[in-house]
Amino acid sequence: MNQSNSGEVANVFCIANQKGGVGKTTTAVNLAAALAALGKKVLLVDLDPQGNATMGSGVDKNALKANLYQVLIGEATVAETTVRSESGGYDVLPSNRELSGAEIDLIQMDQREMQLKHAIAHVRDQYEFILIDCPPTLSLLTLNGLAAAHGVIIPMQCEYFALEGLSDLVNTIKRVHNNINSDLQLIGLLRVMFDARVTLQQQVSDQIESHFGDRVFRSIVPRNVRLAEAPSYGMPGTVYDKGSRGAKAYVEFGNELVKRVKKEALKAVARPPRQANL
Ligand code: ATP
Ligand code: MG
Repeated sequence: MNQSNSGEVANVFCIANQKGGVGKTTTAVNLAAALAALGKKVLLVDLDPQGNATMGSGVDKNALKANLYQVLIGEATVAETTVRSESGGYDVLPSNRELSGAEIDLIQMDQREMQLKHAIAHVRDQYEFILIDCPPTLSLLTLNGLAAAHGVIIPMQCEYFALEGLSDLVNTIKRVHNNINSDLQLIGLLRVMFDARVTLQQQVSDQIESHFGDRVFRSIVPRNVRLAEAPSYGMPGTVYDKGSRGAKAYVEFGNELVKRVKKEALKAVARPPRQANL
């Protein structure tokens, strides 16, 4: 059941924020493509019944043989459900609205919050990164994502209420860390849809830095219409318009994440397990 942690196994990261429309899916899809372009083997798990990460990867969510719902309830394996994002150069564990039924089915199962972790355990040695695009809720689906992950990446907009919702998410991460997944860490906060001309955004950005220090990624994703256009072409923004400011920011973020992961891995070897670094 528990896959050994030794050897080459994927870093599993949730892209989470219970606020809707903050850029989770855009981050998941573009990060997957950016990492793939760096030569990394990537699986993108679409944990949202909206299926936006599936569609944004160029996979038709309405023409799937199987989707994550069947995987979570044990009717299909990850291997037979996974499809390729031809445009992005990574694999996708796709979803559609059927996944909304999983909440109800999972409640009746033993270890209901562990089903995604168990499912991806079988493929963890085939990837370097597994990215999980979470839905905008702190639901049982999101809990499955957090239970399966090593880390959480939180995309956030630098708006007045941004910090308010963050404490609920940070508390959830702490609780998951303390109760069901001691591997879980806050990897970092990513500022997205940023507009430096807006004074308030700059102020909130500074506030985020003073609260979270080096947990804030240095890369900042600007508001950029090319990123918003890309999903309708079934492509990550980094592929749709490589030269756009948005694409460049996600490529930079991919590089920064790879460096951070290497640094964390070295630190983890040097120190014993401890409280979640939040
Ligand atoms: P949900 O909570 O519904 O899952 P989400 O957090 O996944 O939403 P996205 O779907 O990634 O958010 O983004 C919300 C909207 O903002 C989309 O229309 C997307 O194209 C747009 N968007 C995301 N990032 C940017 C950006 N940097 N610049 C411009 N538009 C963006
Ligand atoms: Mg989304």
